[in-house]
Amino acid sequence: MIDLRSDTVTKPTAAMRRAMAEAEVGDDERDGDPTMQRLERRVADLLGKDEALFFPSGCMANQAAIWALTEPATEVYLDADAHIIHWELAGAAAMSGVQIKPIAASRVVFNAADLEASLRPASKYYPAPSLVCVENTHNGAGGLITPRDELQRIQKVARRHRLPVHMDGARLWNASVASGTSLSDIASTVDTVMVAFSKGLGAPIGAAVAGPKDVMEAVWTARKLFGGALRQSGMLAAAALYALDNHMERLAEDHANAQLLAKAIDGAGGAKVVPPDTNIVMIDLPPGKRTDPIVDAAEKAGVAVSEWSATRIRLVTHLDVTTQDCKKAAEVLAKALSTK
Ligand SMILES: *Cc1c(COP(=O)(O)O)cnc(C)c1O
Repeated sequence: MIDLRSDTVTKPTAAMRRAMAEAEVGDDERDGDPTMQRLERRVADLLGKDEALFFPSGCMANQAAIWALTEPATEVYLDADAHIIHWELAGAAAMSGVQIKPIAASRVVFNAADLEASLRPASKYYPAPSLVCVENTHNGAGGLITPRDELQRIQKVARRHRLPVHMDGARLWNASVASGTSLSDIASTVDTVMVAFSKGLGAPIGAAVAGPKDVMEAVWTARKLFGGALRQSGMLAAAALYALDNHMERLAEDHANAQLLAKAIDGAGGAKVVPPDTNIVMIDLPPGKRTDPIVDAAEKAGVAVSEWSATRIRLVTHLDVTTQDCKKAAEVLAKALSTK
């Protein structure tokens, strides 16, 4: 099966498993695990932040950042199509007691002007804003990169309203490699940033939050509160370190494969492909067509894809699919889309 459902399906390579097996470990919550400390220092430096903290998952990491940066009964401003809104249950309401304010976007994802327009005037009758979140790359928008100058404009609006900015950067690595902008240059536009090791980097588990020292103390408390403090987690950190050393630059191959898929599929049976910035390809079906028979037909022909909605199919390229696999997948999908 050529599995294009997600970049979470990658399996640790033999070399990564060796690095995990050989990792030097300790009790992370009690003393600090030496391999984990190396990973957290490396990630903080890459992102240009004071400190970083490892998490078992990206969802927990995002939710811990929200907990650390907000007060109950305030509002978090988010893109209407954000992962935090659609794929993390109602975690922000349940765990941080905040209300989500989706920002109406004038284009695909919100920009600084949209944020400015959606911020409520200060009033004792309105909920107070506490946080702005951006997602980069944006999953629901097809791996879209928000350019650094737009992020800077968003940061300016947030600062004017004295609001911190958190970035859901599960695929920030992809944004950096594809745009040629360093991770720290992108992350300088936000206060805290979440990055994931288990997406395109191919580690089996893990994410991190990075940010300023005072905020990271609260992020540590949130991780403990959510049951995410770990013990001999250096084995997981070793996989992430291996991924940073060996799987970062190769993300460019995933992006090239996404381009190849998009070019070969666009127009087949009237389908429209969102031009991919990174490793996610969104296929929008023409009126009258629905995703389920197409997804079924592709699966029968050996290609697994995601039914994103009734009219949208998502493909994600990653380290376990080759260019040859993607050529075959493009043929299968073009055929499935063209069948009446
Ligand atoms: C996958 C993802 C997450 C959550 O990461 P998990 O490790 O799966 O919990 C958060 N944000 C975005 C944009 C993602 O794609």
